[in-house]
Parts: sequence; C-alpha cells; structure tokens
Amino acid sequence: MQNKHLIEVLENVKKRDGDQPEFIQAVTEVFESLDPVADARPDLIKAGVFERIVEPERQIIFRVPWVDDNGKVQVNRGFRVQFNSAIGPYKGGIRLHPSVYLGIIKFLGFEQIFKNSLTTLPMGGGKGGSDFDPKGKSDAEVMRFCQSFMTELSKHIGPDTDVPAGDIGTGAREVAYMFGQYKRLRNEFTGVLTGKGLTFGGSLARTEATGYGLCYFTNEVLKANGKSFEGQTVCISGSGNVAIYACEKATALGAKVITMSDSNGYIVDKNGIDLDCVKQLKEVERKRIKEYVSTHPDAEYHEGCSGVWTVPCDIALPCATQNEINEESAKALAANGCYCICEGANMPSTPEAIEVYFANNMLYGPAKAANAGGVAVSGLEMSQNSMRYGWTFEEVDDKLKNIMKDIFAACDSASKEFGMEGNYMAGANIAGFLKVAEAMKAQGCV
Ligand code: NDP
Repeated sequence: MQNKHLIEVLENVKKRDGDQPEFIQAVTEVFESLDPVADARPDLIKAGVFERIVEPERQIIFRVPWVDDNGKVQVNRGFRVQFNSAIGPYKGGIRLHPSVYLGIIKFLGFEQIFKNSLTTLPMGGGKGGSDFDPKGKSDAEVMRFCQSFMTELSKHIGPDTDVPAGDIGTGAREVAYMFGQYKRLRNEFTGVLTGKGLTFGGSLARTEATGYGLCYFTNEVLKANGKSFEGQTVCISGSGNVAIYACEKATALGAKVITMSDSNGYIVDKNGIDLDCVKQLKEVERKRIKEYVSTHPDAEYHEGCSGVWTVPCDIALPCATQNEINEESAKALAANGCYCICEGANMPSTPEAIEVYFANNMLYGPAKAANAGGVAVSGLEMSQNSMRYGWTFEEVDDKLKNIMKDIFAACDSASKEFGMEGNYMAGANIAGFLKVAEAMKAQGCV
C-alpha cells in the first residue's frame, strides 16, 4: 500500500482495534485494493470516507440468559454490528459459534458492506451473532436461546432498519424461532429476517442461493478464461448450507465433487459425493460427516479438517469458515494442479494463501463476490415480503443467475479500469467500495 492517507487510516485501525486480528485482516485486504482509488479520488479523502467506513455506525453487545434442560441458567454474549447504512438498511447474518467475539462480527460486517453493494440491491452492511454453540443442544434449548437473543435484538432491528439472516449455526430452525419471538414481541408480521420458512414469508431458492450463486460466479470466471465445470474434479470443504448446495450445483454443471468436511475431519469419495446421504446426515439427523463412510465403503474419512486441501483437484470451493486455507494448504493445492479457487465461506484464505494463488496464476474468486448469492436472494426475499407476493423457484433462480453474472462483470471491468486485469479480488473491492463511497459523500458527514 502506497497511499499515505490509507496507511494512516489503517494504522489508526490497528491502534484502536489491535485485539481484533480478523477485522484488521479484512480492512488491510480491502485497503490494499483501494490504493489506486485513493490516488485517483482526493474528493473521497476530503469527505472522510476512508476513516468513516472502517468505524461501525453502531455496535450492540448484550447478555443472552437462558435456561438449559437441567434447569440451570446459562449466559451467552450477543452482538449486532450495524456497520454501514449508506445504500440501504443494515443487512447480514447471525453467526452462532463458540469462536464468536466482537472482532469476528466486525470483520464479517465490514465485508458485508461491499458484498451487499456488489449485488446491485439496496442493502447496507451489518452482522450479528453469539458465542452460543447449537451443537449438542436440544431443540427446546435452541428455542429458549433464540427467544432470549431476539428479546434484546428486537429493540434494534426492523424491516426498514436492520434485517438479519442465517450464517454458521443459524439455519432455518433458528431463523424461525427468532422470527416467532420478534412477531410476538412487536405484534407485527414483517420481513424482519430473511431465510424464513416457505410457509411464513421465505423465498424459494434462498436455501440454495449461496451455494448455487457460488457456482454461477465460478462458471463466469471459468468461461472468461476459456474453461468450464464440465469434467472437472472439485474439492469442497464444509458440509453445511453453503457446501451442500455448492456440491449440488457443481455436479449439475458437469463436475465431480470428491470431498466434504466438518470441523473434525474430511471425507474423500472418488466416485463423487452422494449428496442425498450428506443431506440426510447433516440436515435431518444433525450427525458428523464421518458417518458417511459407514454407508459408503469406497470412501475414506480422515481426521483433521485442513487435510482436505491436500486432495488433488482442478477447482477448490472452500465453504466452511475463515482462514481455513493457509500458505501451506494453498501451496499443496497449487502443487496438485488446482487452477481455480472460488470462496463460498467468508475470508477462507489467509493473506499468505492469496499470495500463493497470484504467484501461481491461479484463478481466484474472492468471497465478497463469489458468495454474494445468499444475500442477493435475501434482498429478493425482502422485495417479495414488501410486495406481499412470491416468485417461483425458476424466477428467483434466474434473477440470482443474472445477479452473479453482473457481479462478475463489475469485478472484471473494475480490475481492468484500475490496471489489474484478472485480479477479481481488487475488482470486487473497488466496485463494491465505489458505490458506497459515492453515497456516503453525497449524504454528507454522517
Ligand atoms: P453452516 O453452519 O451450515 O455450516 C458450516 C460448515 O463449516 C459445517 O460443516 C461446519 O462444521 C464447518 N465449520 C464451521 N466452523 C469451522 C471451523 N472453525 N473449522 C472447520 N470447519 C468449520 O454454515 P454455512 O454453510 O451457512 O456457512 C459457511 C460459510 O459460508 C461461513 O463462512 C459463512 O459466513 C459463509 N456464508 C454463508 C452464507 C449463507 O447464506 N448461509 C452466505 C454467505 C457466506 P461443524 O458442523 O463441525 O461445525
């Protein structure tokens, strides 16, 4: 990074938020891409856009008390970071995972600003969550937690203010419990959350949207470089919502997906993953991925999730969590002939891994562009709720496809305009930033 102003703002972030490494990592990556923009746009520096964009408009931290099945009081910590509302109401998911703390929610909220901007829909950036772990909890415990979480959160959100959604640990069940509690507290039936069930305002194709969108985006990257999914071997990490529907779409587009994982380990099935089995295990029975091999004797299970990147493949789709591909994993991918990485998870590659991708001329689709399909269809769910009308699966899927094509085109053209052709990471950061920056400048110092 050369631009003096950006260096100063970043130094200040490091001083203020030194205890939040994931947030600093996200800001650094975006600012490195924005170097030529800061040089070309002194008006944005004068308007204080760079200082303002790294500071959330509002951060809420709250107690979430609930009673477990043994009658014991448990206390978790809840977060909502309302990062930027320049182009629309705050929008972003709720993560339930023991690793959640303010720095994780801030990195996710910061990324969400640019991702939402890229979708072309009017949504600002936000994110929330808790260090609650739904794994191993009964349905009744999850319900009591969600009700307590929403009792506080309901004071800060609304269909025109802030519209949360799912993320790690928050699936259809959790969104439904939160929606029920909001409706009861406020006595209003509004589209205050997305990812709702189909019987109460959910959009068709929302469940599939992030994974499908990831494959539509990857397909554009491949096409632009004279390739396609047809006949390619794909490694996917994770076995949650994003991983499952990425596997489904990549297979439909002619690829063979041979791996999936969870936080304990990974499976390799050279015959191609049997997705019905994974859906049954993960969506219905809520079991571990290692159970897969008990019904698939040809498949292997290995302990330790990072080993998934040592399996040779053409295309890698990380769909589990942040920083899951480090330098060593990236080098293993490159050495085994992988030529394309597109990110389903948020920030799954460390900065060192990204350097390896560029050093090896690998095609790289960054998360904020590649996984924007989920929030894009959430935006379409908001539109349908406002209209009190629902589109068919095909209508939503078509809109999603077009949005992912447009996102790729925006990244591609911004990368060319600023002299970094083929660097879709820089393209995504620049295109996402400029729209928000223009709105912030126009609205004055707020
Ligand atoms: P899920 O909770 O449905 O699945 C998460 C998967 O990742 C599980 O297989 C989980 O394994 C694994 N995982 C979670 N934490 C870790 C970890 N620390 N190490 C290794 N594996 C881990 O979440 P989603 O599929 O919804 O989300 C996956 C990623 O995609 C996240 O980064 C999320 O932010 C991102 N994303 C999700 C969107 C959505 O619409 N759902 C939209 C855009 C991005 P285990 O069961 O063992 O925990």
